[in-house]
Amino acid sequence: MSKKRKLFTAGQLNDWLATTSQSASVSGHLKSSQTEVEHLDDVMQSEVRILSEFRNKPHKVSRDCEARNPFLPYDPEMYICHLGSGHAVLLNKFNVVPNHYLIVTTEYEEQASALELKEFQALAETQHEFPTLFFYNSGREAGASQPHRHLQALPISEIPLNSTLPELTEDVQSLPELPFSHCIAAVNDQQTPEQWYSTYLAMLQKLNLNNQPDELKPYNFLMTRQWMLVVPRVQGRYENISVNALGFAGLFLVKNREVLDSLRAKGSSEVLKAVSGTS
Ligand code: AMP
Repeated sequence: MSKKRKLFTAGQLNDWLATTSQSASVSGHLKSSQTEVEHLDDVMQSEVRILSEFRNKPHKVSRDCEARNPFLPYDPEMYICHLGSGHAVLLNKFNVVPNHYLIVTTEYEEQASALELKEFQALAETQHEFPTLFFYNSGREAGASQPHRHLQALPISEIPLNSTLPELTEDVQSLPELPFSHCIAAVNDQQTPEQWYSTYLAMLQKLNLNNQPDELKPYNFLMTRQWMLVVPRVQGRYENISVNALGFAGLFLVKNREVLDSLRAKGSSEVLKAVSGTS
């Protein structure tokens, strides 16, 4: 890497993300997209971002480009720092929300194999910086486009799902309020990464996602300072509506108004049921 390795310092992440975003935007390396926002009321509330006609993300990528791993080597203009857990923090090159960042393993590791304790150590290091929705798409059917392990971090505090959630306990449970198959539990910053890791493993077990040690069944993982959620997946999209982990937090990204109309017509809860294989 041409950029010097920089170690994470508590309290600095917001500034580092903003400064790097600014310079990468000016140099043209950061390809942010503009969106309009609409709200949908269903069993769960959701916020839908509709991409503007012109999007910076290439629609068609060449074979070479498709085969190249964007995280190894990573684009030096996207580099923020390294964490004590060993991961690199990178800006998401094709962001919709400012300062969307990625936590990637420095060596190649499979997105489809289980998260390890070190990933929960990375979350513990970064979660104090500002309110963040962390998420993970494991497998193409879960919305992943890259097979190199990467957690994603969206710096937002308003999450539509929160308005549907009752008071949670630390027990792994399935809530009648949520229309899709899932496991959820309360977490807090008094807990250790080891406790989070064990909650995550209990969720995989309960949802029967880990009967093959090296390759889990597709799933989404989401975590905030208040809760952890795991959802099994059977398909990456329902008709023309693509869904990744964010859909289960009530956040959708659609490429145009036609897809928004499909989502409205079907109902977000029906779409979430379909992509999670909920009967
Ligand atoms: P996923 O689609 O869930 O596998 O997440 C991969 C993420 O990596 C997407 O949100 C992309 O926008 C982002 N991405 C793709 N190429 C790059 C790159 N060169 N540098 C940083 N982020 C990237």
